[in-house]
Amino acid sequence: MDMDLTPQQKEAQAGFRSFVDQQIVPHADRYDQEERIPAELVSAMARAGYLGAIVPEEFGGRPIDMITYGLLAEELGRGSSSVNALLTVHSMCSFAIARWGSPAQKERWLSRMAQGTLLGAFALTEIHAGSDARSVETEAVPTSDGYILNGRKRWITFGQLADLFLVFGKCEGQLMIFFVERNTPGLSVAPITGMLGSRASMLGEVTLNNCQIAKEDVIAKAGFGFASVLASVLDIGRYTVAWNCVGIGQACLEASLSYTSQRKQFGVYLKEHQLIQQMIANMLTNLNAARLLCYRAGYLKEKGDPRMIMETMIAKYFASTMVTKAANDAVQIHGANGCSSDYPVQRYLRDARIQEIIEGSSQIQQMTIAKYSYQQ
Ligand SMILES: Cc1cc2nc3c(=O)[nH]c(=O)nc-3n(C[C@H](O)[C@H](O)[C@H](O)COP(=O)(O)OP(=O)(O)OC[C@H]3O[C@@H](n4cnc5c(N)ncnc54)[C@H](O)[C@@H]3O)c2cc1C
Repeated sequence: MDMDLTPQQKEAQAGFRSFVDQQIVPHADRYDQEERIPAELVSAMARAGYLGAIVPEEFGGRPIDMITYGLLAEELGRGSSSVNALLTVHSMCSFAIARWGSPAQKERWLSRMAQGTLLGAFALTEIHAGSDARSVETEAVPTSDGYILNGRKRWITFGQLADLFLVFGKCEGQLMIFFVERNTPGLSVAPITGMLGSRASMLGEVTLNNCQIAKEDVIAKAGFGFASVLASVLDIGRYTVAWNCVGIGQACLEASLSYTSQRKQFGVYLKEHQLIQQMIANMLTNLNAARLLCYRAGYLKEKGDPRMIMETMIAKYFASTMVTKAANDAVQIHGANGCSSDYPVQRYLRDARIQEIIEGSSQIQQMTIAKYSYQQ
């Protein structure tokens, strides 16, 4: 495995950094407080090509390799985890179409997704179905030319903005995945506010009330690609989240280095105290380890190695637990200031905490990783 970034990857990384430093970092706390991101930011991300990062060139995308994609997610996460959540769910949806969609589905949606005029979201979770995705209750009843869909999807990231939902349901007991456009009669979205973290990722509860879905809008059926579509789409989501955690961790480290170099207690800068140094040392060490796991997952993806799914899960599991600890220590290092909205570390902690729950909780990942260990 080559540990050096190519000149192109370094150039892309510098571009992502400058975008995030100019367009996101100065506003991220406001987004968090207002619980929304502005439309201009979505347009700027689209103009920069970020929303077409997974879309093939023939549909107007600006596809990048998986390491470069990871660097993008890291930088967005460093600026605002909520903003990175848009990349996550939009990429999951565009990946599903690009990889598994029919030619007609690609033609219909992909170029608008690359332009950012059509935003995608991922709608799996329900009130009674979270970790146990197979227990979804959204019901599809077959008709002569398609399906009638009824159900409620909860905690849908960017549900308030999305134009196209990847919806999981069941038809006669069999799991299926559908594309449902926002303007489908019977679909409504209620905003969810007041979350602990990811506050600007504009969550919504999506209600599907007798929505008529054409049979062309099905993407997977049980026994006909369902498991592959689900695994690969969740894999893209986990990969983006793992790098997002590295980004938040980097932000925690940078904030802690800066604060401990400016604040004095007992006559010396905080950085002179060994117990502070211990927290900094652990933060950097664990951050480096998480970043390496992410690189490994990206490298396996580039090679098309089937181990990529499990190695991505390992990276996401480690990175999300790493960042919860890093952000907790960053708040500790900042003392009372760390608890105040004048400093971003409280946001990092709240956002970090979410990462252990989304895209498969730590417990679900531990169970799957343990199973994988015995197969090695
Ligand atoms: C900010 C945010 C954004 C989200 N965005 C989306 C989205 O865009 N689309 C979407 O579909 N969903 C989304 N979700 C939902 C998320 O995917 C679920 O919260 C997650 O899958 C866990 O499900 P749950 O919350 O129902 O918890 P539950 O499944 O009820 O689990 C509760 C607790 O029990 C543990 N647990 C469950 N089963 C086991 C077991 N067998 N053994 C041991 N422990 C277990 C879990 O790890 C967890 O700690 C989002 C959630 C949040 C907080």
